[in-house]
Amino acid sequence: MLTILPIPAFEDNYIWLIHNGRHAVAVDPGEAEPVRSFLRREGLNLAAILATHHHGDHTGGIGDLLQDRAVPVYGAVRGPLAPQTTPVAEGDLITVPELPATFGVLAFPGHTRDHVGFTLPGALFCGDTLFGIGCGRLFEGTPEQALASLKKILALPDDTLIYCAHEYTLENIRFAKKVESGNPDLLQWEAAAQALRKNGRPTVPTTLALEKSANPFLRFEAPDVIRAASAHAGRPLNAPVEVFAAVRAWRDGA
Ligand code: ZN
Ligand code: FE
Repeated sequence: MLTILPIPAFEDNYIWLIHNGRHAVAVDPGEAEPVRSFLRREGLNLAAILATHHHGDHTGGIGDLLQDRAVPVYGAVRGPLAPQTTPVAEGDLITVPELPATFGVLAFPGHTRDHVGFTLPGALFCGDTLFGIGCGRLFEGTPEQALASLKKILALPDDTLIYCAHEYTLENIRFAKKVESGNPDLLQWEAAAQALRKNGRPTVPTTLALEKSANPFLRFEAPDVIRAASAHAGRPLNAPVEVFAAVRAWRDGA
């Protein structure tokens, strides 16, 4: 039986920990200390580290954690990750015998070129590719690449739990309401998400079904989103990639 829980880091990062009561896998440990103290408190041994992309807020703690215990690191291989990381590519299977668990790998270029996601049955660890009601900024990839990555997520089962790496939901909802002010699912989720945050609870994981119903970056085929994106861009947009790119640019300027 696996438990998945968030370890808060920095201002708004979540380091996801997957454990069986004895051994644990850490996803995107941007800082070592909160992971260390959690492992110590719960009597867990680290078995592996997964890194979705090379940004420091997802990888900064890896070196220190490896000093405590030499464990395999799987992820993308650019930048500071390169020396210690076993490179992974879409379709790879990562087996962690201590849990036991086998993770799948999806390539998610967009936020960065090296971004990957990790899957377990019913779960996706998507780093900065998809957020609650948002998506990652396109620092390195093109809108075409990012949209192709999001379409891979859309192809997963609706009840897939989306474990993203930041608590950005309320901020993203504020923007989403500019795009789709009349979306009842969005407004309903806003109230629920506000209540969670008021109690200090995370709004993630969310489900793919919820994101499909209210995340403007996945709703490039929804008439209201197409209309709002076109109005904001000042020209009619039709192709999904144009709509997605316009909503992303709108968000960047918002
Ligand atoms: Zn990032
Ligand atoms: Fe990040």
